[in-house]
Amino acid sequence: MKSFFQNRLSAVAEKGNYRTLSTLRHTGNKIETSDGQVLLNLSSNDYLGIASDFSLRETFLSGLTADRFLPGSSSSRLLTGNFDIYDRLEARLAELYKSEAALVFSSGYHANTGLLPAVTTRNSLIVADKLVHASLIDGIRLSPARCIRYRHNDYDQLEEIVAKEHARCDVIVIVTESLFSMDGDEADLIRLTAIKRRYPQVLLYIDEAHAVGVRGAQGLGCCEEAGLLPEIDFLIGTFGKAFASTGAYVICTQTVREYLVNTMRTLIFTTALPPVNLEWTLFVLNKIVTMTDRRAHLQRISRMLYEPLNRLNGESFRSSSHIVPCIAGASERATRLAKEVQKAGFYVLPIRPPTVPEGTARLRISLTADCTADDVEKLLSVIVK
Ligand SMILES: *Cc1c(COP(=O)(O)O)cnc(C)c1O
Repeated sequence: MKSFFQNRLSAVAEKGNYRTLSTLRHTGNKIETSDGQVLLNLSSNDYLGIASDFSLRETFLSGLTADRFLPGSSSSRLLTGNFDIYDRLEARLAELYKSEAALVFSSGYHANTGLLPAVTTRNSLIVADKLVHASLIDGIRLSPARCIRYRHNDYDQLEEIVAKEHARCDVIVIVTESLFSMDGDEADLIRLTAIKRRYPQVLLYIDEAHAVGVRGAQGLGCCEEAGLLPEIDFLIGTFGKAFASTGAYVICTQTVREYLVNTMRTLIFTTALPPVNLEWTLFVLNKIVTMTDRRAHLQRISRMLYEPLNRLNGESFRSSSHIVPCIAGASERATRLAKEVQKAGFYVLPIRPPTVPEGTARLRISLTADCTADDVEKLLSVIVK
């Protein structure tokens, strides 16, 4: 058996895609590597700088006592794990989104792998953007529905598929991210809602993992920014990125919420989140609503970076956000480029297949609100030579 796995691992390595887990020391938004180098962290999803904000943690801790510090929930939500902090967090989410309901999950991975199987049948169709996140792909795999993928952000193709299929489907779920995790570009939400209005079977499923906190007047995401919140049937947000916490949520109707509580396996068959973690999430949520300066600053430095890099990357890549790829092509080339950028003081990692399509290995730069304009200029001077 040893050689079975060794051979398969060698095949991964031969493609230049071998991965290891490295242990890093964090100081604010800096990373200290095992050989003692201190680098600016441009690989984190701490988009608003909340995870590296020491005073925020101090404020939160000062309000905690041993009886409120519950590090575990000891049960699933349907048994004894549904502490009142779940209700308070979900009520606040629903209030902010002006929706009937919200439902919190243990992670974005739980949300996507649980929701899609729960809301579809054998007579349903899922139509998903070619570049959606692995957790959505796995949700599709677990679903009884048929699935068709459309070319990234190609809404003409999407509409053709819907026009052809709608008559024989109970529901068609269109699945996309609002802000794409590896390309940093955005779905056309206006176009998507127009398709939805034309076909009553269509439900919109929008994963805003990289947009919540960052986009919209209150940081509720791209759908808030576009003024389209009421059009979205399943709006997914996650707490692991800008929120510096863990967990995820769906914004939906009260009926859908009740339906999910009764049918969604990744909600029913897993231990509820630790109450102290939910307390932190609610604390952060209320801070995020007011962090307009951090959002504006992030948008400013993002533009400084994506304008020149879009020119470098060519036609197919059009970042419009704090996530900016620098396309290298072959995996080895991405790895080499990452080393160069690291030598200059920036912790940037190569992203390789299968995370991104073959031939599009890249550096993935993610800016956070605690980066400065000087940081971005210095980074550009290393990359754009
Ligand atoms: C990170 C991510 C997820 C998974 O969320 P976790 O809470 O980390 O499990 C889901 N969807 C997208 C688009 C993501 O980027």
